[in-house]
Amino acid sequence: MILEEGHPLRAHTTLRVGGPARFLARCATEADVREALAFAEAQRLPWRVLGEGSNVLADDAGFAGVVLRMELPGISISSQEDGAVLVTAGAGVSWDALVRAAATRALWGIENLAGIPGTVGAAPVQNIGAYGSEVKDTIASVRVLDTTCGQVRELLSEACAFGYRESTFKHDPALIILSVTFRLARVGEPALAYKDLQQAKTSGVALTTPSEVGEAVRAIRARKFPDLREHGTAGSFFKNPTIAHEVFARLRMQYPELPGFPNEMGVKVPLAFILDRVLGLRGYREGKVWLFAAQPLVLVADAGATASAIDAFANDIARRVHDATGISIEREVRNIFSQNIL
Ligand code: NAP
Repeated sequence: MILEEGHPLRAHTTLRVGGPARFLARCATEADVREALAFAEAQRLPWRVLGEGSNVLADDAGFAGVVLRMELPGISISSQEDGAVLVTAGAGVSWDALVRAAATRALWGIENLAGIPGTVGAAPVQNIGAYGSEVKDTIASVRVLDTTCGQVRELLSEACAFGYRESTFKHDPALIILSVTFRLARVGEPALAYKDLQQAKTSGVALTTPSEVGEAVRAIRARKFPDLREHGTAGSFFKNPTIAHEVFARLRMQYPELPGFPNEMGVKVPLAFILDRVLGLRGYREGKVWLFAAQPLVLVADAGATASAIDAFANDIARRVHDATGISIEREVRNIFSQNIL
């Protein structure tokens, strides 16, 4: 384990805000993780787990504890008798590196999730999803260190309580994800239901292999989402809300073009539509914080922005959405360093 003192969290979050961590423990093995936890206990300090910080808002004051930066490497592949392939990756592997590794071997299942920033260990936490795929659909099991008893456990997918950007890991910070095993397929079909992929198909983009689909998704994302090398951002700041059928019907009377996607809870509506067409907030800016014009659900923080300014901006957006539509929106981005992290 490598221990650093006073390291700024802004260097470890894609929003590029956040004050110093009292200690940052770089963990490349399970033993490192245990050592970091023992160190935190000996120092009587709280601890938090961090991947690439791509869905995290860190306080300006930093964190007076130990941050476990998960850097566990490795991708291993084994075949199953039913033709499926089990792929296990360390929590610190970059998510897109795993997508590329699977595509190189022509394995289907995670190609629509290409280009999502973050680590493999973070992927199950919020059940990352894009273009009609969710990571839960391919997860066979998640290997965790249960810090309440010090045991390593293998949780099958059914035990992870996966939902829309939801899982048991979001609500049980005692479970530290060490690795994830995916069940991928040698034979598959491209999943092209989403309009951006349909349009790519119509315009002649090759979409017949996992590699081609992954590349098409990366190209779409590059057009619609900010470049992390240029902007501080954590992608979608809010979840797309699911609202009751009656609420949807009422809004549809007012905004006939409002898209709606029925699911088991009601109707999911794209928040980007509300921010853009209902509130006129496409590209809206307050100081150094703004909504990305090509996709207003994405909040961008210019260099020098603060976490408190982002927090105030997000609260203001949520209030405006509620005032105009009656919908209460939830954040997707989490402040894992606050006292109440759930
Ligand atoms: P989009 O394709 O314009 O879709 C906007 C909204 O409509 C999303 O709520 C999406 O649901 C929903 N939707 C669209 N087509 C659908 C269909 N055929 N069936 C069911 N629901 C449908 O969204 P976008 O902003 O360009 O993003 C593309 C994809 O990447 C989306 O899946 C989005 O969630 C994902 N994404 C996630 C992040 C992040 O930070 N979490 C950032 C960028 C993009 P879903 O959200 O359930 O897909």
